[in-house]
Parts: sequence; structure tokens; C-alpha cells
Amino acid sequence: ASPPPVVRYDMNSVTVTKDPEQNKEKILILTPMARFYQGYWDNLLQLNYPHELITLGFILPKNKEGNAATAALQAEVAKTQKGPIDSRFKEVIILRQDFEPPLTSQDESERHKLNNQKERRAAMSKARNSLIFTTLGPMTSWVLWLDADIVETPPTLIQDLASHDQPVIVPNCFQRYTNSETNQDEERPYDFNSWQDSQSARDLAAKMGPDDILLEGYAEMPTYRALMAYMVEENKGMHHEVPLDGVGGTALMVKADVHRDGAMFPPFSFYHLMETEGFCKMARRLTWTCTGLPNYKVYHYNE
Ligand code: GDP
Ligand code: MN
Repeated sequence: ASPPPVVRYDMNSVTVTKDPEQNKEKILILTPMARFYQGYWDNLLQLNYPHELITLGFILPKNKEGNAATAALQAEVAKTQKGPIDSRFKEVIILRQDFEPPLTSQDESERHKLNNQKERRAAMSKARNSLIFTTLGPMTSWVLWLDADIVETPPTLIQDLASHDQPVIVPNCFQRYTNSETNQDEERPYDFNSWQDSQSARDLAAKMGPDDILLEGYAEMPTYRALMAYMVEENKGMHHEVPLDGVGGTALMVKADVHRDGAMFPPFSFYHLMETEGFCKMARRLTWTCTGLPNYKVYHYNE
């Protein structure tokens, strides 16, 4: 038998532009998933970037909750990929973690406890790294990181984020809730990992040990960073940009070349940062820039 043919990819023909649809650019949507939410899947289906250009990649933990989420996800994938042609995605890749998550089944308050953060964010980093290194292909133009509990985005999310032509760009992640005093539907900021650095944070970091990490949103650690969560200025329009030194990963659009250059999610203290905030730092060390869209909102599930 003759040896298999060599597959050649001309990477120069893979464009990354502000009009990806026009150029038929391939998008990889990556989701670490501990729980399956129907609202996530329904929102994914309503994204109107051509599904035939979208590959979905998931990684789920190896525990009871992860097994249940995998089953629910596979059922929806099967339904969609057998459904109307226009809804079908190009490809769906589902990975299971090869390690057990350190702290099983955590609710929001438990997850956010300071003492649990380092171990948890190391595990999240490893899950994200496994996902990107396994799924990034030679034809991928953009990577959209989208958490499994993002239940509402504009249908044009991919086109809108790409239109900025930024290497790393992040919308503002909010949460809808019912105010128990007024019984009114309201919204509040959810993700505090998108920020601009401050002298206070740099001073705190200077006094830390090499393995210590700075965390946002803890009274014990007053960083006085400028948080994108509080930069909403609606008069400036949806597409108002701000430069960022740290990014969250609930929804995060990255040019594939940033990952190809080696930017990943440090599962250790990298300049006292981990996971998505460490990723932003690493992208910047590779001379890319990170941008936030404070007025462009996406919504996190309310547990
Ligand atoms: P938070 O909203 O910042 O508190 O973080 P989440 O707990 O929602 O986690 C972020 C994303 O990672 C979500 O999509 C989760 O479903 C997912 N996730 C959380 N823990 C794990 C884990 O141990 N393994 C994997 N593969 N995904 C996880
Ligand atoms: Mn979440």
C-alpha cells in the first residue's frame, strides 16, 4: 500500500478579517462545560454566523455532574445535526477531562470563596488548555470562548466581535435577576475579570511570593483596578472600546494566531495571574493587545 498523502495547508490563505462571513472564515467555539443549560444551547443555535463555518468544541469534567451534562449535550447535538441543514454545525468535538476536578459540584458562593480560587482556576486553566490544544486546526481563523452558562447574546455576536478586528476582545458579562425588594427585573455585572491594572494591584503583587495570585472582587485584596463591569456608558454605543490588562472568559473572541503564538491559560501564577487573566497577560507579552466592549452585553445564567 502507498503511504498516505501529505496534507498541505497554506496558512497564508487562512484570513482573519473584520468581515469573516464574506471571507468564509472558520470559527471555533470552545466551551468548558460542568453543567448543561438549555438556555446556552438555544442561544448557540440562534447565532446567525453560518453554522457550516462553525466547529464546536466542549470539554466536560469526569464526575457525576459531568456525565449528566455530557448526556444532555450529546442529545442536543444529535438533534441539531440531524435537523435543518442551516442549523447544523460543521463539526462537534466533545472531550472528557483526563483528571478529576479538585472540588466537585460547587454552587456559586462556594466557587467564589477565596481559598478555593487557586485550585479551581488551575483546574479550569488545564481544561481550557486541553480544549484549545486538541481542537485548534490549521484552518481556524477565530476562537470564540463561550461559557456553558451564557444564556443570552445578540445573534450577531461573532460578526460584531470580529468587526473590531482586535486580537483579543471581550464583551461585558451581566446577569439578569429579580430585585426582591421591588420585584422588578434588573441586571447586574457578573464577570469582574476584565480590568485595567492599577498601582495598588502592582504594589500588592510586588509584596507577594512567586506562587501567590491576585484575585478580583475580594475585600481581602483591594486592587483598585478599573473594572470593565463598571465602565458602561450607553451614550457611547455598543461598539465603544477600552484597552484591558485582564480579561474574563465567559465570552471571549481571540484571533487563532494569538493561541498559535503560544498564548494559553496559565494553570500557575504568571505575573501573579492565572487562567483568563493570565492569558491576557501572556497575549500582551507576545505583543498582542486586549480590548473590552463595556456597552456590549452578554448574560450569565442566574443560579
Ligand atoms: P464562574 O461563572 O466564573 O463562577 O465559573 P463557572 O463555574 O461557571 O465556570 C466557567 C465555565 O467552566 C463554565 O462554562 C462551567 O460550566 C465550566 N466548568 C466549571 N468547572 C469545570 C470543570 O471542572 N471542568 C470543565 N471542563 N468545565 C468546568
Ligand atoms: Mn459561570
